[in-house]
Amino acid sequence: MKDDTLRKVSLSRDLQHALDNREFILEYQPVVDLNSTQIVGAEALLRWQHPQKGKIYPNDFIPLAEDNNLILPLGEWVLETVLDNFQGEAHPALNDLKISINLSGQQLGDDHHFRNISNQIKISKIDPARIQLEITETSIFENVGQTTHELKRLESLGVKLAIDDFGTGYSSLSYMEQFPNDAIKIDIPFIKRIKHRKIHLPILKGIISIAHEMGLDVIAEGVETQAQVDYLQDQGCNLMQGYYFYKPVSLSELIETIEAQ
Ligand code: C2E
Ligand code: CA
Ligand code: CA
Repeated sequence: MKDDTLRKVSLSRDLQHALDNREFILEYQPVVDLNSTQIVGAEALLRWQHPQKGKIYPNDFIPLAEDNNLILPLGEWVLETVLDNFQGEAHPALNDLKISINLSGQQLGDDHHFRNISNQIKISKIDPARIQLEITETSIFENVGQTTHELKRLESLGVKLAIDDFGTGYSSLSYMEQFPNDAIKIDIPFIKRIKHRKIHLPILKGIISIAHEMGLDVIAEGVETQAQVDYLQDQGCNLMQGYYFYKPVSLSELIETIEAQ
């Protein structure tokens, strides 16, 4: 416990300098559509390349960034970098991909930050309909009324919105009709329960079916086995992300992968 606290203090201190020192990198995990067997999108996943400690994953530093008022500048860096990476002229292979970007709950409420997101998207000239902003279910349900307003103003930019980690927290299907929302991403623990093709998982089956009924895209995360692929396909869920297909890779590896398919 003491070690853990010390580690956090030390990381928080380093985090202050990490943006200035350009220690962050983005990896991209392809999203595949089983119907076309093509890569149709990619999710940007942030990593911290710490000079002494090596690669640090977001679950270990995003909460610290949130506690230290660093999540807004970090979020701006992520958006700017992703939009820059996906500029049409730079990498034509990426032109048809949907781009997913994770937003922290704190990024929703701030007016200055909202204007920044809006400006960056306009300047980038990327069709906003290609950009999917992912917000976790937990951050949405922390304050339903406020978040609905904030999601609506994001939607007004023309971007797509996805509820991330769907099924973990307070998921109330009745709220789903209220939120502006284009997709849900089913959380990894749900997918892990799929042990074989014919397994009986009524909640998972129900979520997929209701979401489709509501006209939402359903993306299954953390798909690792053929049995999971088979089960999801049987349920009509064709958008998948997971180690079974691709791990998160660098931008240049993403381009190579797209060009090779
Ligand atoms: P997430 O958005 O739910 O992203 C999915 C996580 O599952 C990623 O972990 C990904 O590497 C991992 N994953 C992908 N396929 C598999 C698989 O087949 N099996 C397993 N076990 N895991 C798989 P990662 O990259 O460590 O990111 C963790 C979380 O950190 C993300 O969860 C997201 O909530 C957050 N995050 C990542 N990048 C950003 C960012 O730029 N901004 C913010 N605010 N949060 C971010
Ligand atoms: Ca996500
Ligand atoms: Ca997730």
